[in-house]
Amino acid sequence: MRAAPTRGARANLLRMGDRAIISVDDLPTDQRRWAIAHELGHFEVHPDVSYLGFCTGEDLRADYHRSGREPEANAFAAELLMPEALFQRAVDKVEKPAWREVQAIAAGFQVSLTATAHRFIELSWERVALFISQEGKVVSNRGRRDFGTRLKKSEPLHSDSLAHDYFAKKKVWPGAQHVSAQAWSPTARDSDEVMEEVFVMEAYGSVLSLVWWPAR
Ligand SMILES: [Zn+2]
Repeated sequence: MRAAPTRGARANLLRMGDRAIISVDDLPTDQRRWAIAHELGHFEVHPDVSYLGFCTGEDLRADYHRSGREPEANAFAAELLMPEALFQRAVDKVEKPAWREVQAIAAGFQVSLTATAHRFIELSWERVALFISQEGKVVSNRGRRDFGTRLKKSEPLHSDSLAHDYFAKKKVWPGAQHVSAQAWSPTARDSDEVMEEVFVMEAYGSVLSLVWWPAR
């Protein structure tokens, strides 16, 4: 493994028989660990490919639920860095979804907040979903099946959501708040409410909304 300050690229894998050289940009620790694990994923899961070209920041995005080579490498990275049994134990200690809890788990596993949040959604027992939005629109949505319908990718945010208030008024609501369930689950009943807590990633212009149905 070697540091490779290649412009615009993040990581790559050069296979030589049963060995390989992984090159990674000079990245913050959590991103670097993810990039290396992602390349190991290509090494293990795609044995017929000797050179993949560079994996870009987009390829390395932690959303690994799609099919294809890059998400497969990310799924491998997620399992390697956040093994299910260990991660499940951490999730089971969480009483209520909260960014504070996700941050603590991220620090423990030395993985980015976004990657941790995706894994959290996957292994949580709550009816929970994660929405990422930019410029007032949803760019990614993931949730447990029992969450119900979810606001779709590229749809504009509902004016009742906390994420909307960030883009419309730069208002960052502290902690979890009750919001109309229809803000995130379009087919929810009028009277239903969900909890939403936002985490603002100023540098990326992104808002992460953790949304869950309160226990009845
Ligand atoms: Zn890749």
